Amino acid sequence: MKIAAYSVVPAEKPYFKRWSKEHQVEVKLIAAPLSQATLDEAAGCVGVCVQQPSALGDAAFYRRFAQMGLKYIGVRSAGIDFVDLAACQKNGIKVTNVPAYSPRAIAEMGLTQALALLRRLGEYRAEMAQGKFSLNPRLISNEIYKLTVGLIGLGHIGGETARLYRALGARVIAYNRSHKIQYESVVEYTDFATVIAQSDIISLHTPLTPATNGMIGEEEFRKMKDSAILINMSRGGLVDTPALITALQHGQIAGAGLDTLANEAEFFRKDVPVDQLPADYQTLAAMPNVIITPHIAFYTATAVKNMVNIGLDNIYRQEIKKN
Ligand code: NAD
Repeated sequence: MKIAAYSVVPAEKPYFKRWSKEHQVEVKLIAAPLSQATLDEAAGCVGVCVQQPSALGDAAFYRRFAQMGLKYIGVRSAGIDFVDLAACQKNGIKVTNVPAYSPRAIAEMGLTQALALLRRLGEYRAEMAQGKFSLNPRLISNEIYKLTVGLIGLGHIGGETARLYRALGARVIAYNRSHKIQYESVVEYTDFATVIAQSDIISLHTPLTPATNGMIGEEEFRKMKDSAILINMSRGGLVDTPALITALQHGQIAGAGLDTLANEAEFFRKDVPVDQLPADYQTLAAMPNVIITPHIAFYTATAVKNMVNIGLDNIYRQEIKKN
């Protein structure tokens, strides 16, 4: 059996090699993403293990994929919106994903950013750059166990986030479109408006859908506490970026931790001179009470290992069962 792995990054290589050795399955490692242009690299394989985002191609791509004897597209992350599922079904191609590779990784990054903002590390860094060792009355902090943390979205990542904040003694309230009984011991269920109005830290964990697109906008910022910290580890599009900038500039909220930005597709996984990045990025990045990270909340050794192992297992198990 042979599997072609596309979009392979250096951090993944040891895990691919170990899995290959343990399963006695050849895994061809390809740095380029899967596309019409790179499909031939998978000749002789049973399937491909891919990472999003990959622009796969039109109907002809899926026909050729099947004609080459390829049977599986094993996505080694959660999102499969870049795969044309109807075209796969038509051509007998089986698609799998890894719905949860390490929710804890993302939850921990959200918590890390929230605590850094709560204790005003960015602002203190700016003070230290000026040799200011006096007590600044504006920079007094709060302690987490005195605070209310509000979660919007209580799935894999929201649930882990709730557990972390509860372990620190915070009151955790949450709004999710359905009641998740498994988190009752750590959260109080409430509605969207209560999360917005009562939370000292608001952490977003829903997917980006038409219903959640721009769900945090001008009106929500107006209703938040002026001491509130917004954490978005989910998708940039959940937040109206101009409204966020206005809210920060006018002191409507105290800070923001952002692992994803609405327009990140323009610069995703690229190194770009800062003055060529969009103006909203530059404005946010210059604020000491804002933390921006490049969509790396997932990026831990545990998560990368799970993505590779589960992504390959999904293909392997189907092929073994078939034979
Ligand atoms: P999940 O599917 O387990 O949970 C999502 C939750 O949101 C579900 O409980 C669902 O009921 C709820 N939800 C959906 N629409 C809603 C709405 N309109 N109102 C209220 N609740 C709603 O997903 P997850 O694994 O917890 O991931 C959440 C999101 O995190 C993903 O969609 C993705 O955008 C993001 N993510 C980010 C990274 C990163 O590295 N920054 C990595 C993985 C996932």
